[in-house]
Amino acid sequence: MTEVALNKDGNFSAGSDFDMESWELMKKNHVVGDFSMLCCGAPAIPKTSANGLRFFSHYSDECASAPETIWHLNTKESFIKELRKKSIQAKDEVPGGLKSEKWKADIYFEYQNRKIVFEVQHSYQHLSEYFKRQERYINSGVECYWVLYKPRFITVTKSILKYRLKEEFGNVFPTDLNIGGGLGQISILPIVWFDPEDERPIKAPGFFSVSTNNWIDSILKSEFSYSPSGWNIY
Ligand SMILES: [Zn+2]
Repeated sequence: MTEVALNKDGNFSAGSDFDMESWELMKKNHVVGDFSMLCCGAPAIPKTSANGLRFFSHYSDECASAPETIWHLNTKESFIKELRKKSIQAKDEVPGGLKSEKWKADIYFEYQNRKIVFEVQHSYQHLSEYFKRQERYINSGVECYWVLYKPRFITVTKSILKYRLKEEFGNVFPTDLNIGGGLGQISILPIVWFDPEDERPIKAPGFFSVSTNNWIDSILKSEFSYSPSGWNIY
């Protein structure tokens, strides 16, 4: 299920581009092949959910793309959609960086004088690779925020905890610090995980859970920041 599909001209068609009447009319009159799914190019069928949401789904009920591809596309799509609502034109797969430090941003946009990237990460990546890629963005004057698939978030959180215990605490667990779950987070790497099934899909430890809209707002206002208890909106 997706709110955006491609039409016959190859342009984006969003359920929200229609009012209910024109949507219902289109549902009656369209033919299979008028729309196709972004994930795999299979025919898309316009549908209406019980609570009135206008969406597209696969004609055959099956998607030819791998689940990780779908998660990656859906996550990117929901960010681009929220940014569009704020009149921010985000682009995906944007290349940049210096010769030896090239990067390709999943989602890139500019806001006031800031360059901002969302990296959407589903596959495993070593902590040193996160640090390296983050540093490339910093060297290009770009702010990068990481949006992870939950199992990846859990893995990297454990790696950060080990890294900090070793580098900052000499492998002695800091019992005297009031940092709670914050030890699994680090100031140089803003990370959250994304659960598309949840109405407040942006999550971090300490019951942090916000809508994509509110999270983006907090970044635009520079309120999503680091403290010893972790990344949060302050
Ligand atoms: Zn598909």
